[in-house]
Amino acid sequence: MSRATNRDEPRAEIIAAARSLFQRGLTHGSTGNLSVRVGEHLLVTPTGSSLGTLEADELSLIDTAAGAHVSGPRPSKEAFLHAAMLRARPEANAVVHTHSTYAAAVSCLDGLDPDDALPPLTAYFAMRVGRLPLLPYFAPGDQALEPAAEEAARTHAALLLSNHGPIVAGTSLGAALDAIEELEETAKLFLLLRGLPTRPLTPEQVRALARHGK
Ligand code: ZN
Repeated sequence: MSRATNRDEPRAEIIAAARSLFQRGLTHGSTGNLSVRVGEHLLVTPTGSSLGTLEADELSLIDTAAGAHVSGPRPSKEAFLHAAMLRARPEANAVVHTHSTYAAAVSCLDGLDPDDALPPLTAYFAMRVGRLPLLPYFAPGDQALEPAAEEAARTHAALLLSNHGPIVAGTSLGAALDAIEELEETAKLFLLLRGLPTRPLTPEQVRALARHGK
């Protein structure tokens, strides 16, 4: 594989994921952003772009440590959150953020447990997402959210932003997508089950999943 191909690979991966999310209605308008770690930098979708029409040469490069814009178009105004999650999780290589309908709906509910916004309804949610802290509301792009997100991301791969949506880090873009889609499906189940007697997995069942591998 040539060096040029290696350099282009994360770009192609981001575009394929962006299209897939958009086509399946997991992002709308110009919402949602994705990033992949490339050495000391972070390749991220630009501000004001639709994930349905974005092209590989339209991605932004930012510095992961400082969050500063390095090259390409102006990054998403939520790119600082991606950088914060990757700083907090050295093993992670990609971050996905959406305003997907069911997770965004849950993020607007009153009375959620801020330490764990969704119960472990299914094994796949417990394995791929785990505990989901709810972060306080900040306007999109408000960098005051950065310290809280970075702190929470040290111990959690997925965060739910109040009145906004989920953000998930993964060892690969595929893993981050799997996790955010599992989160969206569990948010949907949670809303379908509201008001019905529900039996989430027990703490012992969740521990057994962790013990027996993912
Ligand atoms: Zn957002």
